[in-house]
Amino acid sequence: MNMTAKIIDGKAVAKHIRENIAKEVEKLRHEGIHPGLAVVLVGSNPASMIYVRNKGEACKAAGIYSEEHRLPEDTTEAELLKLIDKLNNDNRIHGILVQLPLPERINKENVLKAISPEKDVDGFHEINMGRLMTGHDGLVPCTPLGIIKLLEHYHIPVEGKNAVIVGRSNIVGKPVALMLLQRNATVTICHTRTKNMSELCRQADILIAAVGRSHMISGDMIKDGAVVVDVGINRQDSGKLVGDVDFEAASEKASWITPVPGGVGPMTIAMLLYNTVKAAKHIARQPMAHK
Ligand code: NDP
Repeated sequence: MNMTAKIIDGKAVAKHIRENIAKEVEKLRHEGIHPGLAVVLVGSNPASMIYVRNKGEACKAAGIYSEEHRLPEDTTEAELLKLIDKLNNDNRIHGILVQLPLPERINKENVLKAISPEKDVDGFHEINMGRLMTGHDGLVPCTPLGIIKLLEHYHIPVEGKNAVIVGRSNIVGKPVALMLLQRNATVTICHTRTKNMSELCRQADILIAAVGRSHMISGDMIKDGAVVVDVGINRQDSGKLVGDVDFEAASEKASWITPVPGGVGPMTIAMLLYNTVKAAKHIARQPMAHK
């Protein structure tokens, strides 16, 4: 195989970040700050249960207090909102994460809006989305933040580059576009109605795929020397996990590339810990903070 691209090793970077967070948590203890995360799961979706367990274990490893709230599948929206209200007022808790997807009966928007923006460690609250949009500091979604941290870690320049993002979800595509724009990239966002997507991708110095379709980005859609970030997680019939990018073909053209698994994925949990510590420091250091 004629591999030229260097690997963006998200697993290693995430480990490094998590170790640094653990050190910071230890230091904060001396200031009387003990970051705490509450994860709320409604129902028993198997994938969600694994995510929730992994998040709890990651907290524990970093010295962050965590609690898991498992609610039955038939929980009402009112019951869920009541729990969120309780967590909003709980001084041990600095981050509240409601694991998605929620059962269809429950209005996701109402739930996300009910989380205090200061404890919104997923960065999905409209207030935090608005802060990101207007360039103000706030809590931003974990996966896009993880992508930015990966680029920073490898000193990959963003300013003045053509960044093309495939996918426009509120969770990945849109926030990463805003973060790259804020860092002075020239940003193009592609989606299902985009015409000439291959041509647009070929102009990308930085190409970010966040679609959820295996191998939809082929080698001929990649400019020589491009930086390729693959957010997609797709399980093939064989059980193998693959991204949205044809990794083998892309590796022959790109200068840098993220593998799947081991690229963006591990960064998401690291950024959840990062956001929890950020929220804890912010809440504790506010002049009027309740202790
Ligand atoms: P969504 O399904 O919410 O969004 C997918 C986006 O891709 C949409 O904007 C859609 O366009 C676009 N799209 C779909 N098909 C095409 C196509 N043929 N051509 C162009 N655009 C297309 O997904 P998410 O953003 O939530 O997630 C994307 C992927 O990233 C998934 O595989 C998910 O599993 C993964 N993921 C990984 C994370 C990690 O930690 N590594 C975290 C979050 C997600 P339109 O808007 O027009 O419908």
